[in-house]
Amino acid sequence: MALVGLNEILMDAAKKGYAVGAFGGSDMISAMSAIQAAEAKKTPLILLEEFSLVFRDDRSLELHFAALNAMAERASIPVATILDHGTCYEDCLKAIRWGCTSVMFDGSSLPMEENIRITKEVVRAAHAAGVSVEGEIGHVGGDEGGATLGGLAADASAYSSPKEAEYFAKETGVDALAVAIGTVHGTFKGTPKLDIERLKAIRSAVGDLPLVLHGGSGLPEAEFKKAVTNGINKINIFTSTEKSGAACTKELFAKEDQYVVTFDQIARDAVRAMQRDIETHIEIFETPSIGV
Ligand SMILES: [Zn+2]
Repeated sequence: MALVGLNEILMDAAKKGYAVGAFGGSDMISAMSAIQAAEAKKTPLILLEEFSLVFRDDRSLELHFAALNAMAERASIPVATILDHGTCYEDCLKAIRWGCTSVMFDGSSLPMEENIRITKEVVRAAHAAGVSVEGEIGHVGGDEGGATLGGLAADASAYSSPKEAEYFAKETGVDALAVAIGTVHGTFKGTPKLDIERLKAIRSAVGDLPLVLHGGSGLPEAEFKKAVTNGINKINIFTSTEKSGAACTKELFAKEDQYVVTFDQIARDAVRAMQRDIETHIEIFETPSIGV
């Protein structure tokens, strides 16, 4: 089908009240798993591209982004590619130059006015290039790109306030807004529970602006459903998928006394396991199939 902007996918989701999953593209194997899962389910896909996980230098990142965009262009479903957690204006610009159809600027750990100032600059540059922007207000803490042993609990003092969300959205002109309502990046400590009343208040404060939930891995099915019913339109899943890929690797090595384990076997099994994990999430989110 086509490489599309985040806007194209999320405007319909916000209007009709459903959510689309955003899954990891930190390497080609996870990107392939995500594309195959969305193709099997016939749903749109948001592919997360990262700056600081597997690839770190500009040359590798540029090649990686080009490869992911080429994969997305050839998918049979619409795919939006997004720089996940861009931490500065320059990184967002690089991602735009390297073909991302959307960028997230994460200024959530900055003071509010500083977050607004930089987000606005990113929006101005991105919109001039036809690229969508996701901002974040409040702070989804945790271990981005990792999984702290024992897990982490959400910090209620950093949850998004409906008033701030409304102000931030109006000032910056973002196309989507990530909010903190009870999730963490990485692994949860204990059973997570979302602040649904807060989500409802944010939804009514920002009108039909698409809302984003980060740190969704490990959230109980019922909480996901409540999040979608009450206004979340994009759900980021990373840790759960990466853990499922790693788990099957462990199973392969457990049989090392029976055969020689090679990387192609690891990659093949990991694609299957990660695709399964992503398909399960798409089913929980109840993302409508295209043309249905
Ligand atoms: Zn995130």
